[in-house]
Amino acid sequence: MTATLNRFQFLPILALAISMIAGGYYFHHTLNTWTTKIVSGYMSSLLDDVAHQIEEKQLDLYDMSQPEIDAFIDNLSQSRFGQRFTVIHSSGLVLGDSQLSNWEINKLDDHSSRPEVISALNGELGMSKRHSESINQDLLYVAKQLKLPPDEHGHDTKYVIRLAMPLTALAAMTNDLEVIFYFLMACSFAVLICSSWFSNRKIFSVVNHERQLQEQRIEKSTREIELLHQLANMLAACNSIKEAQAVVADIIPRILGDINGCVSIMRESRNQLEVKLDWGGHWPASTVYAPNDCWALRKGKSHLSHAKYHNLECSHMSGLEHGGTTLCVPLTAHGNTVGMFHLYFGRNDHVVSEETKQITYTLAEHLGLALANLSLQEKLRSQAMRDPLTGLYNRRYFEEVLDTEWSKANQDGASLSLLMLDLDHFKRFNDNFGHDAGDFVLKEVASLLNRNIADGQVACRLGGEELAIICPNTTIDESLTLANNIVAEVRELHLDMKGLSLGQLGVSIGVTTFPDLNASPQELVKVADTALYQAKDNGRSQAIHSQLKLEPTKLSTQDGPSEVLPLKKSE
Ligand code: GH3
Ligand code: MG
Ligand code: MG
Repeated sequence: MTATLNRFQFLPILALAISMIAGGYYFHHTLNTWTTKIVSGYMSSLLDDVAHQIEEKQLDLYDMSQPEIDAFIDNLSQSRFGQRFTVIHSSGLVLGDSQLSNWEINKLDDHSSRPEVISALNGELGMSKRHSESINQDLLYVAKQLKLPPDEHGHDTKYVIRLAMPLTALAAMTNDLEVIFYFLMACSFAVLICSSWFSNRKIFSVVNHERQLQEQRIEKSTREIELLHQLANMLAACNSIKEAQAVVADIIPRILGDINGCVSIMRESRNQLEVKLDWGGHWPASTVYAPNDCWALRKGKSHLSHAKYHNLECSHMSGLEHGGTTLCVPLTAHGNTVGMFHLYFGRNDHVVSEETKQITYTLAEHLGLALANLSLQEKLRSQAMRDPLTGLYNRRYFEEVLDTEWSKANQDGASLSLLMLDLDHFKRFNDNFGHDAGDFVLKEVASLLNRNIADGQVACRLGGEELAIICPNTTIDESLTLANNIVAEVRELHLDMKGLSLGQLGVSIGVTTFPDLNASPQELVKVADTALYQAKDNGRSQAIHSQLKLEPTKLSTQDGPSEVLPLKKSE
């Protein structure tokens, strides 16, 4: 590109040089014509003066002797400046010349054929340029006719007065003008070359600089597009918010630099937002806030805390220690606000560039869709593994987790306890207070279980009022303690539905522990079930632990309570 420009940048100079040469030639030609015209005009006026003097003095040139004419011409004031005057008769005879002696005049030939003389005799202004043999010089001749009154001898009284001027004088004049002109042209040419060289250098440096900036911009936006693509791909592959956290913490700082940011997610109830994803350090403002605390959420569009025309901070950002500019952008998907995207720039005077805003909006679009996708996934997953009435895990999930936890315990040599629960006389309860009351009781018991289980323990509803708890890393004693606590708490449960007391409830629990009872998951379920039946048989509202493996026949018939030995019984 540079080479092409270099070649083309000299085109105007070349064109100017050519036009200068053509112009110079034309100028030279015109100047010569003009100077000849001006000088011949001046010479013509001198001739007029001389003719006037001759006419005034009524000189009879034909009858005057040569010395007399010479003397007259020599004495003319116009002759004093070296001009050569010649008086020629219409017959071609030279009568007098201001620069030739009489002897030289006599030697002159007939002048009637001289072009200027012919023109003058025809009544025009005669003019010619040629070399004069007599004075050996290039001369400009200007001749005019002089018509005197007729003399008494009847001679022809038509004369030609001619003035000659050396061409060297004329040439000197035009040369001076030409030198000035060419000097000015050369100067302007030099100035043009210098200025075009300088401006070209400037243009090149500006173009280069712009090109570098453009390349940097393209490189940056290509990188951003690639990162956004990666972010969208990775978020789409995430199964949980936890995984999404790892993805945003890794990729977003590569796009936004060291700007601290977070994403808060709208709760199902839509009355609170909670910060679930963050990057660029600990999020310094509120992590849980109401929708009304965010200007952006109220406006339904992005909000910058310190902008040109306002300084309005969102309430959820009021906890920032050193103040600072914040930017909130709603995350929407399918027309719903699923969360908020927040950025914290640290200082109040920080000017958030349009570029940063644009990339933030793009990120918000990706995150909005990804969050909507994740929450949909979680909803579907939850629907697939939870019981809709109690919110406890369902039988399918119970079987999955039991298998997984059993394998883990088997591999690690850790304890795994299983509790099988059945509400006592629930049918009667249902019959007395109605099905709704039964549902209410089931929900109350579910939340009781959730309160009692530790992290990692999984409470499930297997069907009807049959429940189960899987307890990884839980020994026989720990499992029995948990079971007894549940029995006691269920017994003490005050069941009031819409002001109606539903009375007391009991639960019977069968417990077993692996690997104390070295059995498969299915066998563990059977053994715990058998212990549960024994608890029912023993009078209900109690827990029994069993680690007695059932015989194959017993397993299949489920006729086991009498074969199960209670390890410990609830009081
Ligand atoms: P037991 O002490 O021997 O367990 O007596 P029980 O009455 O609980 O006996 P059983 O387990 O056979 O009765 C289960 C009853 O639970 C039958 C049904 O009326 C009730 N039930 C099952 N699922 C639901 C439910 O989803 N909602 C309500 N309200 N009741 C249910
Ligand atoms: Mg039952
Ligand atoms: Mg029951």
